[in-house]
Amino acid sequence: MDLDLNISGIASPSSGGAEIPVKVLILGSGPAGFSAALYAARADLNPVVLTGMELGGQVSLTYIVENYPGFPEGIGGQQLVELFQKQAERFGARVEFDTATKVDLSQRPFRVTTYNATYLADALIIATGATPRHLNVPGEKELTGRGVSYCATCDGWFFKEKDVIVVGGGDSALEEGIFLTRYARSVRIVHRRDELRAGPILQRRAMDNPKISFIWNTVVEEIKGQEAVEAVRMKNLVTGEECVEPVDGVFIFIGHTPNTELFRGVLDMDEMGYIKTDRYYRTNIPGVFAAGEAADPHFRQVITSAGMGAAAAMQAGHFLDETVGYQT
Ligand code: NAP
Repeated sequence: MDLDLNISGIASPSSGGAEIPVKVLILGSGPAGFSAALYAARADLNPVVLTGMELGGQVSLTYIVENYPGFPEGIGGQQLVELFQKQAERFGARVEFDTATKVDLSQRPFRVTTYNATYLADALIIATGATPRHLNVPGEKELTGRGVSYCATCDGWFFKEKDVIVVGGGDSALEEGIFLTRYARSVRIVHRRDELRAGPILQRRAMDNPKISFIWNTVVEEIKGQEAVEAVRMKNLVTGEECVEPVDGVFIFIGHTPNTELFRGVLDMDEMGYIKTDRYYRTNIPGVFAAGEAADPHFRQVITSAGMGAAAAMQAGHFLDETVGYQT
């Protein structure tokens, strides 16, 4: 069962290095990963967290988190990740800035190869999260980083007094669209239906924002530009009409794909690639648990991911008690 893909699904040479035995190895450093680390550390399981490519995952790219309890004024996404990490480390979790490139789950200890080492893990918690979905239209790939973006917090600043469009009709599209109005001259939200998926509070805020307008029943079919984004070709799905609109930026928020390529064919998944678990966050392989967005197509909130991570770590503790006999 040797696979050779990193957590973003990009094929890469596996490395290896020293063999490091660990009781609990956690893949991913978002709310699920760090909550798992906190609970495993407090159970004296000396967990190691492999951060993956992006410390903190998606939440670290979120400008402000307003619905995580305990922060009535909201808290910056990056700041929240720093606090998660600090709290897990305080109890002994070790955080490695490294990424899994290869896993062998055919026997225990599980072998997880990274760029720097090979970990031999008695229990594994997969909290690899999810990656923003792409439109897959001409121009998108070529102009990514040159006007096409999947992160308003990261790139909004570059669009001062510019005209941008946001694609999508969910919470992310509206939240990020509202954020972009800090910089942009205008934000047009392009949605493929005439009804938003986003919750009522964000809908109200977006509708009330004078810089935001909506283009309904419309999809982006092409992103045009030489050195940078210059225009988009769009199609109205009701009338069939096409138009080319000049824009400076295209922000895409159309959902996510779970980062589970590394486990394809090894762990049971649904048709979208989300890892299947039981209510104890156990996968089909005993000793392998999954938490957070890698295993959750439904809720995908900071708080639900954090809860899943904590529960998975508790279960990993029980599993190790029963099988290896650690005192937790
Ligand atoms: P989402 O809820 O899945 O919404 C994706 C949006 O993109 C939908 O409006 C969908 O249209 C549209 N879409 C999907 N594929 C498309 C395509 N190929 N072309 C054009 N449009 C496409 O994703 P999300 O907004 O990223 O949110 C993910 C989860 O995080 C949700 O559970 C959300 O509640 C949560 N979230 C919460 C907050 C918050 O509470 N503050 C903030 C951000 C995210 P349809 O509507 O037609 O399907």
